[in-house]
Amino acid sequence: MDSFTLVIVSALASTIMAVTMYLLHRASRRTPCLLDWSAAGLSFLCSNLIALLAMHSQLPFVLAPGIANVFYVGGHYLILAGVRRHLGLRPRYDWLAALAVVILLLHATEFAHGAVGHRLMLLTPFVAAINAAVVWTLRRQPDDAARGSYLPLMVVEAAFMAQLSVRALYLALGQPPLLTFMGNQIWQTAGSLAVLAFLSLANMCCALIVIRHQELALRSASLTDSLTGWLNRRALLDMAEREFQRHRRSAEALHFLTFDIDHFKPINDQHGHAVGDAAIRHVTTVAAQALRGYDARFRIGGEEFAVLITGEGEVRQIGERLRALIEHSPMVIDGQRLTLTVSLGVAACLADDLQWDEALRRADQALYHAKRRGRNRLSVYGEDLLPPAVARQA
Ligand code: GH3
Ligand code: MG
Ligand code: MG
Repeated sequence: MDSFTLVIVSALASTIMAVTMYLLHRASRRTPCLLDWSAAGLSFLCSNLIALLAMHSQLPFVLAPGIANVFYVGGHYLILAGVRRHLGLRPRYDWLAALAVVILLLHATEFAHGAVGHRLMLLTPFVAAINAAVVWTLRRQPDDAARGSYLPLMVVEAAFMAQLSVRALYLALGQPPLLTFMGNQIWQTAGSLAVLAFLSLANMCCALIVIRHQELALRSASLTDSLTGWLNRRALLDMAEREFQRHRRSAEALHFLTFDIDHFKPINDQHGHAVGDAAIRHVTTVAAQALRGYDARFRIGGEEFAVLITGEGEVRQIGERLRALIEHSPMVIDGQRLTLTVSLGVAACLADDLQWDEALRRADQALYHAKRRGRNRLSVYGEDLLPPAVARQA
């Protein structure tokens, strides 16, 4: 294949990358990494455009190959910058500026003025290091639901790094084939095709990462209560069923703890709905401090909450700690302290329960028992409140 066709096709693939990433960004404004990836496409495009110009006129060495190679390495770096931004790290554009200076300085050396193969050997460590950095950065991510979407980009970057390293090593160790800029050799065609495949695949891989991220964000939003950040009733149906099945298989203890804010209506009536909302948020923030990080918390009604407590542990103590902490952490509105209290109910899943919601219902009965007994207290089903059959016998 001739160089002219290869450069034109590469320029086209770069343009497609720049445009696709930009349009995806327009469609979802909250994903700035797409702009880094669009800039990566633009950078590759600039490199191709300079190469095209160089085919038709004599350009100064600093522009072609100097600046053209800066754009080429910069394109690779911008993919890394987008990955870093996506993961919440600083994209480090200062490193890009330093990289550009180093690459331009390398072009001032006598070695770089030699054959195209010399410049390939000079640039390979930089590009391969960037490819490796992308793989390493993505590999370090925790094993969560998003991780599967990183794998395609990791494979593409690793494959590109491998082919680049093999070519540079072959040039360094073997008899270098006559590599010229306008050359027609298989060696050079293979390199150009690798860049072309890389551009097309990296484009899709980046889009995949963003689409998966948005899907996970939507799923999380559909399971989260927006006022408190706790899980919602829909999430409870899903998680409680899963935990209940696990409890039946392993016989590990599973408890429901439910609680409801005492005399909440008067707060709404006296201070307004916004203060009512703030009170709900205050109670969940304080309650979270009394719970263990892995206890799943749910807002199951207006000011009613449930906590799923797995494993052996003193559930009564956890509930008492929560009750006391809320009682002793007054909320401040307009400089006034407003003491809130909650009533709580606890029930365990029992061996003859067929459904998890039987235990939730018992926890609710215990909660209303606590309300009847004067509020700001905790009732444990089976201890403070006896099942009807046992109560009759007693
Ligand atoms: P009790 O001690 O018996 O629980 O008395 P209570 O006044 O708290 O009674 P109840 O639990 O029935 O009160 C629920 C009230 O919570 C009724 C409703 O107006 C209010 N509410 C429900 N959801 C919200 C919400 O999202 N924000 C606010 N501000 N109020 C809510
Ligand atoms: Mg209430
Ligand atoms: Mg209520």
